Amino acid sequence: MLSDTNGVESEESEKPEWWSGGVRFECLGCGRCCGGAPGAIFFTVEEEDRIINNVEINGSKFTRDEFRALFVTNRWGRPSFKERPNGDCVFFDAQTKKCKIYLLRPSQCALFPFWPSVMESAESWTSESRRCLGMNDGPLWEAENIKFLLSKSPFEDL
Ligand code: SF4
Repeated sequence: MLSDTNGVESEESEKPEWWSGGVRFECLGCGRCCGGAPGAIFFTVEEEDRIINNVEINGSKFTRDEFRALFVTNRWGRPSFKERPNGDCVFFDAQTKKCKIYLLRPSQCALFPFWPSVMESAESWTSESRRCLGMNDGPLWEAENIKFLLSKSPFEDL
């Protein structure tokens, strides 16, 4: 049987995921995950539509072409939000350290740090925790919750 990489236990190996006992995480609102080293902020077409349909500047909405010209680039073969020269996401407000489209943000942002690439090993979790000080602190996220969040990732390689 094929292994379920999002399962708490793989039937193939019967080895529990390293996070089967849960992990601790609480967002501190520092904004470090919204900037820093060059990265990608991927989004689905539905998420893009939600932003386009709800964001206005000076009372004007955007067409998809206008939105893409202003805010989107191509990163690693997919559309991704542009970054400023310092690595900040184009929607990150450095003064308030808040996302300007927080309620409309893509699931990639909402799911952090429960990304497949972060949860794939204890080493990748530890590596990411050097950037995000909310990891390894705060409430315990149990395995079932983690499994659910991983299942919501729109990109397997996220
Ligand atoms: S780096 Fe971690 S603690 Fe800081 S805003 Fe991002 S998720 Fe929250």
